[in-house]
This record gives sequence, structure tokens and C-alpha cells, in this order.
Amino acid sequence: MEANAAKQIRSFAIGFGLLCAVSVTGQQSVDIPEVPPAFKLDVESAARLRPQLMAQSTAASGRYATGSLVFSRLVEQVLAESRSKFAWQLRIVDDDQLNAYSSPDGTVYVESGLARLAGPSSGLWAALLSHEIAHVVRRDWARRYLYQKYLENGGGAGIVLGDPSLPSGSWQDSEKASADLGRFGRQMELEADREGLMMMAHAGYHPDFVPALHHLLHARGLGTNTRSIYAMHPCWEERDHELSRAYIAASIEFARRWPEWYASPGGNPPVVVFAEEPTVRKTGEKEWQIRVPMRCQNLAGAVEVVLSASRGTAARERPAYLPESDTDTRQLTGCTSPRTTITFTLADTSVRPKPGAQWTDVYVLDAWGSVLARAELPKLPH
Ligand SMILES: [Zn+2]
Repeated sequence: MEANAAKQIRSFAIGFGLLCAVSVTGQQSVDIPEVPPAFKLDVESAARLRPQLMAQSTAASGRYATGSLVFSRLVEQVLAESRSKFAWQLRIVDDDQLNAYSSPDGTVYVESGLARLAGPSSGLWAALLSHEIAHVVRRDWARRYLYQKYLENGGGAGIVLGDPSLPSGSWQDSEKASADLGRFGRQMELEADREGLMMMAHAGYHPDFVPALHHLLHARGLGTNTRSIYAMHPCWEERDHELSRAYIAASIEFARRWPEWYASPGGNPPVVVFAEEPTVRKTGEKEWQIRVPMRCQNLAGAVEVVLSASRGTAARERPAYLPESDTDTRQLTGCTSPRTTITFTLADTSVRPKPGAQWTDVYVLDAWGSVLARAELPKLPH
């Protein structure tokens, strides 16, 4: 029970990039249960787990002070009635992982890899914290528990509050139940995103920091042991589509409240690059053409598009700051049109960048060499 509850708290980690859930077939929505007034299991579980979670984390001070400041600004946006029910606190888990999760008691845990990635950028902090705060206020832990119980009871008996101390032997791990749970999780994530975006706009952080954070994480690639934590979370690119209305609404609200963007708590919005999947075409006997369609937001200078080579999947291990490499092929672009396409032509000699290596990724870098976007290359056709 302990371990399971800890896992459930962690399952509200934000998940990005490669580790997003594969979209579930049939996108009809599920009914997200309301939490009955007498339901306290979430609060009780949080209290029981708190000593363990506190021992594994430290207060967000010192180098993480930006995170603390942003956290309190965002919490101020929560309605007073709801705000007073939680013990709001931001904690850092020193394990180098790229996760964040919230406990039903209002404590948000950010793993140190993600905390360092957000670094001194209050906008990036706001992007990850607003989502977690939304989970707490919505009581998503409780909703998920209730939905799981509902599925355990065959999905037809209505929501029954079982005795949590009993083993859930009736759990039918059918494909349908897990698909339903996947769909449910995905829907909750989108709703937390929606509420998080508006919370950011009100508190003075431009909504563009959300895709910027997702792209940073996508560029960072995947760890190996974090899949289960991310499993419930849809990709940003997929979220982007579903969230476009919420994103536009939040952008309008931000502009209305903070007419001087540079003077907002998050400052000017970040450069965001949306790189689509590159296409590869054979154009000659020993010639290939790679086309990378992309769109840039808030860009005032140029970005560099890098065709990157590696052995196997090593490219995904490359850091968010991409060092120069003699095997890379680079192009500069102002990325000014709504759909800019960068074309690379690979002739015979450049097809194999190095023995055993192959072209695997396209990176888009800012003027300082930081990665703004990454896209994977399909295999070169023979
Ligand atoms: Zn989430």
C-alpha cells in the first residue's frame, strides 16, 4: 500500500517529449468523477507519506530561490477558499531526474535535473509549477483513485468508495480498463494544462514558456528508467493541438493584464521553435534531400539548424547545449515565414558522416548554442 500510494503521487509527474503516452484510439471523453465532500483518502495518504517524501527532499532555497518565488506568485492565483485547504510548499528532490509531481496536501516536488533545467528562468518554473498546482487544486489524485475504483467494479456499478486497506483483488486488468485509465489520465493532464496556462497568464508568465519547456525536455531526450512516471502524459505536440484554444485564450489574457510584456514577472516570452517531422527524399543516384519544416515564435535574430550524426541512439544523450562537432552540418535561418523549410542535400560523400555513424537528429539552436527544438530523422531510403 505504501509503495503503491507513493507511486500514485509520483504518477502526477509532468511528462514531456518522447515519453508521452501514445494517444489512445477513440478520443471520446470519459466522465471525470467529482470528489465527494466526505472523501479524505487523498489527504490521509498524503499525511502518511509526508515524512518519507520530506526526508527525500529539501526546501527550494538558495539556487532554487527563483522556483520558490514563482511558486508563491502562482499560489496567490488560487481562489482563497481553496488555497487555505493546502499546505503549499515547494521541495527539491536531489536525484538529477527530470520530473515534477505533487502531493494532495499541496507540496510540489521538483527533481533536481528539472530544477536545474528551469534554472534562473522564472517563466520555465511557472510552466512546470502551474501544472502541478492545478493538479492539487483539482484534487486529481482523488479523482484518479475514484476512477480506478469505478473500473475495478466493472465500470458499471457507479463509483463506490471501497475500504482502502483491503487488497483490490477485484481489479480486472483488462485491456479495456487500462485503455480507459489511459484516456482518463490523458484528459486530466489536458485539463491541468488548461488551468495551468490561465494561472500563468494571471500571475504574469507568458503561456509560450510552456511549449518552450516541453521542447527543452524533448531535446534532452529520454532517461531509461522513467517510463512509468511519464506514461499518463500526452506529448506537448499532441497537447498543442488539443490546447490551442486554451493557449490562445491565455495569451490574450496575458496581453490584457500585462501590456508591457518585458515588465511582467516572467519577462519577455521565450523563443519557441516548432519543428515538424523532417522528410527524406532520394533525389539522385547517390543523393538525398532532407527537408525540415519549422515555425518560430518571438524570434528577433536567427536560429541555427543542425543536422546531427551519431551512432545508434546516442544523439538522444546529447546535452541541451550542443557543442560543435565536425560531423554536423549547419544552416542559419531567420525563420520569418509562418512555415520555414530548411533543406539539406546529402551527396555521396556526406551520406555516412563517419564509419558506423548515421544522421539521426535535427536540432535547432539559439545564438548561444542552446537547443530550442529537436526532431528525429527518418531512415534514408535506399
Ligand atoms: Zn500532470
